[in-house]
Amino acid sequence: MLNLLVRIIKQFRSICYFSSAEFGKTCKKYARKGRYLILGYHRIRSPSPDQYMEPGMYVNPASFRKQMEVIGKYFEIVSLEKVCKGSICNEKPSCVLTFDDGWNDFYTNAYPVLKKYRYPATVFLPTGYIGSNRMLWTDALARLMVKRKFDAGFLLDYVKDESIRKKLNKKYNRSNLHDLIHLVKTYSIEHNQEIYRNILMENDLMNECNSDFLTWEQIFEMKESGLIHFGSHTSEHVILTSVSVERARAELHHSRELLLNKKLVCSDFIPFCYPNGTNSKVVAEEVKSAGYSCAVTVRRRWNDLSTDIYGLNRIGMHQDVSFSPSMTVLRLGSTPVDNGSG
Ligand SMILES: [Zn+2]
Repeated sequence: MLNLLVRIIKQFRSICYFSSAEFGKTCKKYARKGRYLILGYHRIRSPSPDQYMEPGMYVNPASFRKQMEVIGKYFEIVSLEKVCKGSICNEKPSCVLTFDDGWNDFYTNAYPVLKKYRYPATVFLPTGYIGSNRMLWTDALARLMVKRKFDAGFLLDYVKDESIRKKLNKKYNRSNLHDLIHLVKTYSIEHNQEIYRNILMENDLMNECNSDFLTWEQIFEMKESGLIHFGSHTSEHVILTSVSVERARAELHHSRELLLNKKLVCSDFIPFCYPNGTNSKVVAEEVKSAGYSCAVTVRRRWNDLSTDIYGLNRIGMHQDVSFSPSMTVLRLGSTPVDNGSG
């Protein structure tokens, strides 16, 4: 009930903001200051009852089409390479579209819309998953939970931390499953992510799905269009702050080499996206030394020409915060400017 009320208030606020023309003025002012936005999407598809998707992971195709229409009114949609090389629009602010993980719904649901508007975009590929039938461990965990009727007890064998153990005993269901995934994600950053892979492998889940990732053929076709660019999201979608420097280097190296060998990138501009957005000074240095040209995070801020290109800010776009044109505009309009603090 409370959630519904909050939703209604937010929607009402978005309609007032949208009709006030305030965002248009902000855009003009920000364009003159050289500010620009990078939007981060994951999946462009509707949820289905047989497959769990984290709420922050998707935008419905119909909402996505409306977003592209409304964003095009306020922004000049440009490539990531253009902004990283300092080519910024002054009439309208520049806006870059990025898509993480290389899901195949990008090809079926986003690419046709981008082609229609001639909008460039960058897709970040976890190269070890592309063209395979593997799934990310977070998706596998969600599937395992559905299979086990939302009982998280099996994780207790692996977790020592009392406060986490207590949370694992909680009753989970479809609507709070993302709390568990977040808990496991946080725990595994501090501890050993491999444990969770083992649990999922024991349960034969890692290889139990039809591919949800793009195929190389789809990628080559999109590359040919000249609109869609590609970048690295590591090879194994590894959270770089949670592994050794040697492992991080290997991930960065393998992924970059594969993209170069397949001629999906040129060595003069290879973008990178931190899995989970998680980075540190050390990781950013490794990304730079590995030969990447820039890196995007999930810090929700506008960028400007002084923003560190190995810590580019990015706005996460998902259905619950951007399901209508007015909500989309509120999401962008309420994004803080970069004060250079991070
Ligand atoms: Zn990712």
